[in-house]
Amino acid sequence: MTKPRPHGIRFGPAGIPIQCDGASTADGIRCCKELGLGAMEIEFVRGVRMKDEAAEEAGRIARELDVSISSHAPYYVNFCSKEEAKMANSRKHLFQSAKATHLAGGRVTVFHPGFYQKLSPAEAYSIAKKELAALVEKLRQHGIRTVLGAETVGKKSAFGSLGENIRLAQEVEQVEPVLDFAHLLARGDFPCRDADDYRRLLGMVENELPGWHRHIHCHFSGINYGEKGELNHLPLGSGGPPPFGPLMEVLAENGYSGTVICESPRLDMDALLMQKEYAKRAEGR
Ligand SMILES: [Zn+2]
Repeated sequence: MTKPRPHGIRFGPAGIPIQCDGASTADGIRCCKELGLGAMEIEFVRGVRMKDEAAEEAGRIARELDVSISSHAPYYVNFCSKEEAKMANSRKHLFQSAKATHLAGGRVTVFHPGFYQKLSPAEAYSIAKKELAALVEKLRQHGIRTVLGAETVGKKSAFGSLGENIRLAQEVEQVEPVLDFAHLLARGDFPCRDADDYRRLLGMVENELPGWHRHIHCHFSGINYGEKGELNHLPLGSGGPPPFGPLMEVLAENGYSGTVICESPRLDMDALLMQKEYAKRAEGR
C-alpha cells in the first residue's frame, strides 16, 4: 500500500542532492528523505552502469522512505537515425534505462527523442514512432512497464517538440510527454511567461491526453537561450526565465499530481524552494 501523499506534486533533484555526503543512489535517496523531498531522478545520462542488485536495493530504500523514483536515460540516444548501428545503440541504452528504473520501482525514464539532422520533421517522426513502438513491444516481452518519457527538448535542431511528443504519446503505448518548461521556452514551443501561459499549456496537454494530469512528470530550471534554443541552465530566482512561482500556483489550483524534477545547478536547494512555494499555495485548497 502506498501512503497518501501530503500534496499532489512531489519535488526532487535531477541526481544525488548537492547537500548529500554520499555518492551512491541509495545515499541520494536517503538524503532526499532527510531534506524533506519526495522524489529523486536517477541520472543515467552517461550510460546505465547500475547493476540489477543495486537498482533493486535503491528501490527497496525508496519504497521504505516513500521517495518516488524516476530516471534520465543516456544522452546518446537518437530515435531518428537512419544508421542501424546508431539506432541499435539507442534501443540498447533506453532498454537498459527502462529496465533499471523498473527494478528500482520507478515509473518513468526520461529520454531526449533525437535529432532531425537531414530529415524533415515528418520523416523524423515516422522513424521515431516505429522505433519506439518496437522498443515498447520488447519491454513488454520482458514484463517492463516503465513509461518512456519523451522530454521536450531545448534546441531547435533536436526532434522532440511539444507537439511531436504529445503525438508520440497518443500513438505509441507506454510513451508520455515530459514537459521541460525551460526547454519549451528556449525552443520557442511555448512562452511560459506567467500563470495564464502555464494554465493554457497544462490544459492543452490534458485535453490531448486525458488522465495525464494525474501523473505529470516535468523538469524545471531557469535557462539562458539564444537563436538556436537552449544554451545553459540557471539557478531559480537568478533573473532568468521561466518564473517558477506562477507554475506552482497553477499546479496547486488545478490539483495536478505527479513530479517536478529540478534541473537547475542548485538541484536540491531549488527543488526545496519550489516545494515551499507550492506548499504555500496548496495549503487550504
Ligand atoms: Zn533531459
